[in-house]
Amino acid sequence: MVSFDVIAEAGETRRGQLQINDRTLETPHLFPVVNFYGGGNEPALFGGGIHRTVKEFMVNHPPTTGGTDYSDLFGGVMTSISSLTDYGIREKKLEEYLDNEIREWGKFSDYDGMIFADSGGYKILKQGGELEGEDFTKDITQDKALDMQLDLGPDIVVNLDHPIHPDDEFEERIEKMEKTAVNARQLAKRRDEVDGACYLTVHGYYEAMLERSFDAIENELDKPIPEVFDGIALGSLVPRKDNVEVLIEAVSDCRLEMQQRGYNDLPLHVFGISGNAMPLLVAVGADTFDSASYLHQAINGKYCVNLFETVPVEEADFHACDCRICNDGLHRDRMRNRLDDLYQKDILGSVAAHNLAIQQRELRRFRQLIAEADEDQIAAYLEEAVKDQKGFRKFAYKLINERIKPYFDDDGETSYA
Ligand SMILES: [Zn+2]
Repeated sequence: MVSFDVIAEAGETRRGQLQINDRTLETPHLFPVVNFYGGGNEPALFGGGIHRTVKEFMVNHPPTTGGTDYSDLFGGVMTSISSLTDYGIREKKLEEYLDNEIREWGKFSDYDGMIFADSGGYKILKQGGELEGEDFTKDITQDKALDMQLDLGPDIVVNLDHPIHPDDEFEERIEKMEKTAVNARQLAKRRDEVDGACYLTVHGYYEAMLERSFDAIENELDKPIPEVFDGIALGSLVPRKDNVEVLIEAVSDCRLEMQQRGYNDLPLHVFGISGNAMPLLVAVGADTFDSASYLHQAINGKYCVNLFETVPVEEADFHACDCRICNDGLHRDRMRNRLDDLYQKDILGSVAAHNLAIQQRELRRFRQLIAEADEDQIAAYLEEAVKDQKGFRKFAYKLINERIKPYFDDDGETSYA
């Protein structure tokens, strides 16, 4: 059973509840990227290094967490079939992984969040349509991708897509959109095998491109999109992730296209984007996101002060942060490297958990404001969030004026001009 209920709206922002079987997510929501596999074989959890520490936070492993339960930071996680081979495994290992759903491994049996299993289109396309291990390569077709996604025991799957790139020629984009649409049809045929939600990928940076992407899919399907798919996932934005204007336009135009085609009741997921752009994308109607930025920032020794700024972890003022990680002496000591026998993963794992806590906290605040449906407060929140961010300010103010709180001075100038 899959349902998505919008429970409050303000301007184009919306708060919703995504229900998949017996799991519920409050939206807007961020799915942190988690790699369940790979790296060292033993001991406690798959994988070594910081990935392992992150999973220990996810499943509440007391020696790592210090006894506090942080699993709510991982209420829904994103993983990808391409992550199975991130560490160059042998085919035998791949089969072993695929023989058991994630929750069937004792290590993850207590994990009760949602698992969004991405098809890995971006990486697979880069590898010429193949998944490569140490002693094998596998051609990944839509059917093969779905088989592997289902082997993970997911709550959400998505079709294998062919993301477009800013440098692609027009014909190349069209060709990729058509291939993505054919895969969507293949997934639709096997809809009954998925005991959860099926998402549909669309691609484009602006309205005309998104229109083509939706048209290509509608032409392939013999049923309306909402009869087969439970959500829309907007892809191809990662190479443009530093251009906030492009991101806002893409998400906003995708929402508009969904409205015009009668798909407005479906949740809109944005692939691979989080951090600083997130509040602005929520403001134009994005419901969920996924990102590994909390992890990559930590790996680079960066500690998030807020959604917009990071400092080297050595310079961080933990007492200025109200998150639970920074309020715990154990994690402060780890992040300061003040304990004996610390590994990088111990130091940076706590930093990753803090970084994620900051992003989840901002979304929680945003959900509260949307629930109160107070457009002034939402506008004030966004203004406050971007006030020191030169690159964001202009777009944010435009957005506030046009979408959230339309207001014009007597001379016709916007109040924030
Ligand atoms: Zn903190």
